[in-house]
Amino acid sequence: MRKVYNFNAGPAMVPEEVLKQAQAEMLDWQGTGMSIMELGHRGHEFKEVAEQAEADLRELMEIPKNYHVLFLAGGATTQFAMVPLNLFGEKKVADYIETGVWSKKAVAEAKRYGTVNIAAHTEHRNHLAYVPTQEHWSLTKEAAYVHYTPNETIDGIEFHWVPQTGDVPLVADMTSNILSSPINVSDYGIIYAGAQKNVGQAGVTIVILREDLIKDPLPYTPTLYSYKTQTEHHSFYNTPPTYSWYIAGLVLAWLKRQGGVKAIYEVNQRKAKKLYAMINQHKDFYLCRVEPDYRSMENVMFYLHDEKLTPLFLEGAERQGLMNLRGHRVSGGVRASIYNAVPEEGVDLLVNFMADFVKRNG
Ligand SMILES: *Cc1c(COP(=O)(O)O)cnc(C)c1O
Repeated sequence: MRKVYNFNAGPAMVPEEVLKQAQAEMLDWQGTGMSIMELGHRGHEFKEVAEQAEADLRELMEIPKNYHVLFLAGGATTQFAMVPLNLFGEKKVADYIETGVWSKKAVAEAKRYGTVNIAAHTEHRNHLAYVPTQEHWSLTKEAAYVHYTPNETIDGIEFHWVPQTGDVPLVADMTSNILSSPINVSDYGIIYAGAQKNVGQAGVTIVILREDLIKDPLPYTPTLYSYKTQTEHHSFYNTPPTYSWYIAGLVLAWLKRQGGVKAIYEVNQRKAKKLYAMINQHKDFYLCRVEPDYRSMENVMFYLHDEKLTPLFLEGAERQGLMNLRGHRVSGGVRASIYNAVPEEGVDLLVNFMADFVKRNG
């Protein structure tokens, strides 16, 4: 088998160790003669898997006791609806920070259930994107919550600071940056993340929510979309996505073996620095359209000045085993998604390829 590095934005690379363990355990779960995916979700075997995954997540993120952890189906996109349905309450007003494709989708969904105030959005200076600092935001006093997307996966824009919203709960879509750097969970009311970028396989979504935010949702809310129902049943109201939950557990255990979030953050910073340094070094060849302070550590998004060369770049990269570097269909260009599971040596190969490509085509 050819060794490749997968830079896909999601579903994304999974640690090889995890894939091998899943393969080894596939046919016979701990002597039962059955696969974990065939075992009942209410049986003790799966229950142990589920509880261990939650315990490891709590340990890795230092989640305080007054936060619930849910493992739900429906992807991050379902949370775009669940957040307003459960938090709007009688106020029915919320503030959203619109910094890219995913936050726009979250806004569109919330608008179906109440009033959305765009308190701030991405702006441009010298053709580079940035997010205005908080003194320029127009937050609403009576907002039920403030929603933002710390890392915009498609646009390559990341907050390297946490908005301060006082008593108004802060809700974060961390689908592409959960577990990539240390955070303080108690800065947030709700954190949610689809697993397919940094926690394994598509199908399960992690929701971390502060207990005092659980109340009756809007009356027409479907049963499964109620945080109250889901927390009362510990994500077991119906059949949860058991296999994705199991894979998430393997990834969390792997992350602990890497030394946890602090340790992987060091590696992540180095990986991103190497790529941005290469882009800076060849400014007249490569172009990043985001201001340095807002560049994403997880999704390094750049363009070739001569866009006609982009297909040649992507083909050349693939020949060296550097896969899925094509930018999103709405943005074009090149995007290297370098989540926790992408090894530093893959980034080194990409950086070398970029230097070489300039030599041959610059
Ligand atoms: C990928 C992504 C989503 C969409 O996730 P689904 O699980 O496909 O619904 C939402 N938000 C962000 C920030 C993402 O990166």
